[in-house]
Amino acid sequence: MSTSNYSFKNRCVSILCCKFCKQVLSSRGMKAVLLADTEIDLYSTDIPPTTAVDFIGTCYFTEICQCKLKDIACLRCGNIVGYHVIVPCKPCLLSCNNGHFWMFHSQAVFGINRLDSTGVNLLLWGNLPEAEESTDEDTLDISEEEYIR
Ligand SMILES: [Zn+2]
Ligand SMILES: [Zn+2]
Repeated sequence: MSTSNYSFKNRCVSILCCKFCKQVLSSRGMKAVLLADTEIDLYSTDIPPTTAVDFIGTCYFTEICQCKLKDIACLRCGNIVGYHVIVPCKPCLLSCNNGHFWMFHSQAVFGINRLDSTGVNLLLWGNLPEAEESTDEDTLDISEEEYIR
Protein backbone atom coordinates (compact mmCIF):
# COMPACT_ATOMS: atom_id res chain seq x y z
CA MET A 1 0.00 0.00 0.00
CA SER A 2 1.98 3.00 -1.22
CA THR A 3 -0.96 5.23 -2.14
CA SER A 4 -0.59 7.26 1.06
CA ASN A 5 2.97 8.08 0.07
CA TYR A 6 1.78 9.84 -3.06
CA SER A 7 -0.68 12.11 -1.26
CA PHE A 8 1.87 12.67 1.51
CA LYS A 9 4.36 14.17 -0.97
CA ASN A 10 1.73 16.50 -2.38
CA ARG A 11 0.74 17.96 0.97
CA CYS A 12 1.74 21.50 1.86
CA VAL A 13 4.38 22.07 4.51
CA SER A 14 2.99 24.30 7.26
CA ILE A 15 4.62 26.36 9.96
CA LEU A 16 2.75 25.55 13.17
CA CYS A 17 2.23 28.27 15.76
CA CYS A 18 0.68 28.21 19.23
CA LYS A 19 -2.75 29.89 19.10
CA PHE A 20 -2.35 31.17 22.64
CA CYS A 21 1.03 32.92 22.44
CA LYS A 22 1.92 32.81 18.68
CA GLN A 23 5.14 30.91 19.37
CA VAL A 24 6.41 28.88 16.39
CA LEU A 25 6.22 25.22 17.41
CA SER A 26 7.38 23.53 14.22
CA SER A 27 8.38 24.54 10.71
CA ARG A 28 7.62 21.06 9.34
CA GLY A 29 3.93 20.71 10.03
CA MET A 30 1.42 18.74 8.01
CA LYS A 31 -2.35 18.88 8.23
CA ALA A 32 -3.63 15.44 9.05
CA VAL A 33 -7.03 13.96 9.68
CA LEU A 34 -7.42 10.97 11.93
CA LEU A 35 -8.83 8.11 9.93
CA ALA A 36 -10.71 6.71 12.89
CA ASP A 37 -12.41 10.01 13.71
CA THR A 38 -12.63 12.44 10.82
CA GLU A 39 -14.23 15.07 13.07
CA ILE A 40 -10.86 15.80 14.62
CA ASP A 41 -8.43 18.00 12.73
CA LEU A 42 -4.78 17.57 13.59
CA TYR A 43 -1.43 18.81 12.48
CA SER A 44 1.58 16.54 12.71
CA THR A 45 5.34 16.70 12.37
CA ASP A 46 8.17 14.20 12.12
CA ILE A 47 10.95 16.09 13.93
CA PRO A 48 10.69 16.38 17.73
CA PRO A 49 9.76 20.04 18.45
CA THR A 50 11.66 19.88 21.72
CA THR A 51 12.79 23.51 21.70
CA ALA A 52 9.17 24.68 21.68
CA VAL A 53 7.21 22.08 23.67
CA ASP A 54 7.65 19.83 26.68
CA PHE A 55 5.85 16.78 28.03
CA ILE A 56 3.10 17.32 30.57
CA GLY A 57 1.09 14.86 32.66
CA THR A 58 1.28 11.09 32.44
CA CYS A 59 1.10 8.62 29.59
CA TYR A 60 -2.32 7.43 28.45
CA PHE A 61 -3.91 5.28 25.78
CA THR A 62 -6.49 6.36 23.22
CA GLU A 63 -9.91 4.74 23.03
CA ILE A 64 -9.39 4.08 19.33
CA CYS A 65 -6.23 1.99 19.46
CA GLN A 66 -3.31 0.90 21.65
CA CYS A 67 -0.93 3.79 20.99
CA LYS A 68 0.78 5.10 24.11
CA LEU A 69 0.46 8.89 24.18
CA LYS A 70 1.68 11.80 26.26
CA ASP A 71 0.45 15.38 26.06
CA ILE A 72 2.80 18.17 25.04
CA ALA A 73 2.55 21.77 26.18
CA CYS A 74 3.89 25.00 24.70
CA LEU A 75 7.06 25.99 26.57
CA ARG A 76 6.23 29.69 26.39
CA CYS A 77 2.62 29.75 27.63
CA GLY A 78 2.15 26.28 29.13
CA ASN A 79 -1.03 25.42 27.27
CA ILE A 80 -1.47 21.85 26.01
CA VAL A 81 -1.05 21.99 22.24
CA GLY A 82 -1.03 18.31 21.28
CA TYR A 83 0.46 14.95 22.10
CA HIS A 84 3.35 12.68 21.21
CA VAL A 85 2.89 9.05 20.27
CA ILE A 86 5.46 7.54 22.61
CA VAL A 87 4.85 3.94 21.58
CA PRO A 88 2.73 3.46 18.46
CA CYS A 89 0.55 0.36 18.31
CA LYS A 90 1.19 -2.13 15.54
CA PRO A 91 -1.67 -1.11 13.20
CA CYS A 92 -0.65 2.56 13.47
CA LEU A 93 3.02 1.78 13.00
CA LEU A 94 2.18 -0.09 9.81
CA SER A 95 -0.12 2.64 8.45
CA CYS A 96 1.82 5.70 9.65
CA ASN A 97 4.77 5.25 7.32
CA ASN A 98 5.65 8.95 7.19
CA GLY A 99 7.10 8.93 10.71
CA HIS A 100 4.84 11.67 12.04
CA PHE A 101 4.44 10.92 15.73
CA TRP A 102 4.05 14.47 17.05
CA MET A 103 0.44 15.64 16.80
CA PHE A 104 -1.01 19.09 17.36
CA HIS A 105 -4.68 19.91 18.02
CA SER A 106 -6.14 22.34 15.49
CA GLN A 107 -7.89 24.12 18.39
CA ALA A 108 -4.49 24.91 19.89
CA VAL A 109 -2.29 25.64 16.87
CA PHE A 110 -2.65 27.35 13.52
CA GLY A 111 -0.74 26.53 10.37
CA ILE A 112 0.85 28.88 7.86
CA ASN A 113 1.66 27.45 4.46
CA ARG A 114 5.38 27.56 3.72
CA LEU A 115 6.65 28.75 0.35
CA ASP A 116 9.51 27.18 -1.59
CA SER A 117 12.74 28.94 -2.56
CA THR A 118 10.99 30.87 -5.35
CA GLY A 119 8.81 32.56 -2.72
CA VAL A 120 5.79 32.03 -4.97
CA ASN A 121 4.90 28.36 -4.89
CA LEU A 122 3.73 26.42 -1.86
CA LEU A 123 6.39 24.15 -0.43
CA LEU A 124 5.27 20.53 -0.68
CA TRP A 125 6.49 17.62 1.44
CA GLY A 126 7.84 15.93 -1.69
CA ASN A 127 10.14 18.93 -2.27
CA LEU A 128 11.34 19.28 1.31
CA PRO A 129 15.06 18.52 1.71
CA GLU A 130 15.51 15.37 3.78
CA ALA A 131 18.33 16.82 5.85
CA GLU A 132 16.55 20.04 6.71
CA GLU A 133 16.97 21.06 10.32
CA SER A 134 14.02 22.34 12.30
CA THR A 135 15.99 25.34 13.53
CA ASP A 136 15.41 27.63 10.55
CA GLU A 137 12.61 29.67 12.11
CA ASP A 138 14.75 32.78 12.19
CA THR A 139 15.15 32.82 8.43
CA LEU A 140 11.47 32.34 7.69
CA ASP A 141 9.81 35.37 6.21
CA ILE A 142 6.13 35.19 7.10
CA SER A 143 3.73 37.75 5.73
CA GLU A 144 0.13 38.21 6.79
CA GLU A 145 -1.20 36.92 3.46
CA GLU A 146 0.15 33.46 4.15
CA TYR A 147 -2.13 32.79 7.09
CA ILE A 148 -4.53 30.01 6.17
CA ARG A 149 -6.82 30.41 9.14
ZN1 LIG B 1 -2.50 3.29 17.37
ZN1 LIG C 1 1.99 29.01 23.58
